[in-house]
Amino acid sequence: MLFLVNHISLTTFLITSTTSIFFIIFALQTQNMHYKRILLKLSGEALMGDQQYGIDPVRLKEYAEEIKQITEKGVEVAIVIGGGNIFRGLSGASSGMDRVQGDHMGMLATVINGLALQSALENEEVPTRLQSAININEVAEPFIRRKAIRHLEKGRVVIFGGGTGNPYFTTDSAAVLRAIEISADVILKGTRVDGIYTSDPEKDKLATKFDFISFEDVLQKGLKVMDTTAFTLSQENELPIIVFDMNTKGNLLKVVSGEKIGTKVNL
Ligand code: UDP
Repeated sequence: MLFLVNHISLTTFLITSTTSIFFIIFALQTQNMHYKRILLKLSGEALMGDQQYGIDPVRLKEYAEEIKQITEKGVEVAIVIGGGNIFRGLSGASSGMDRVQGDHMGMLATVINGLALQSALENEEVPTRLQSAININEVAEPFIRRKAIRHLEKGRVVIFGGGTGNPYFTTDSAAVLRAIEISADVILKGTRVDGIYTSDPEKDKLATKFDFISFEDVLQKGLKVMDTTAFTLSQENELPIIVFDMNTKGNLLKVVSGEKIGTKVNL
């Protein structure tokens, strides 16, 4: 009897201590990270890689690897993905299509990109859920805020597809909206440029980069970070934005670790 009691308490002790060690390691890993919950905004065009259209599988895999790195550090990752590599409502409208119809096509394009990213992440063994703002239940979960937060808490990457679910908006607006809803610490806008410059660095050789800039200065100087609706929503909700080069390996990890790369827009 005494042996049995000892055995039970030893087992309990082992389970408790193993669990505690696991949580301590996890907590230590997360502690090193500057941001605990992030919203990563990827444009559809970024997925094209060097192609003119569609999805470049090499680029997609690279992104999945980058995202995996930060989930392994315990960072909670939500992603909003654009659709510009497939369809933009505005360009549809300029060629005579009804704008709302075109925007619906654009929103569906973001779901296609979301599915591709989900697949790439799952190939890297990263648990992922795709939530869509438009009902498409056979393909993606509907967007339910509490459920999204629960997925994040369980260490799943949540991809938000379908933009805001409304025409006349962009996925930048969707990114800010979702970031606020899930109480993300920051929006990371992954681009092919390494930050915000005084003018377009791809056109102007004399352009200089900002390390930090206030929301007000961005507006005053007329710099393009996001469309005005998205940008103002971020400003009003005091949600910082970091613009950084997503195409350089290791950059995403550096940003979430608090390294000063890219440009941070703050109050
Ligand atoms: N879109 C929309 N409502 C939204 C988000 C997107 O109607 O809330 C449509 C719009 O037509 C847009 C397209 O989806 O042009 C693709 O999104 P976006 O242009 O933001 O993609 P990105 O530039 O990030 O690739």
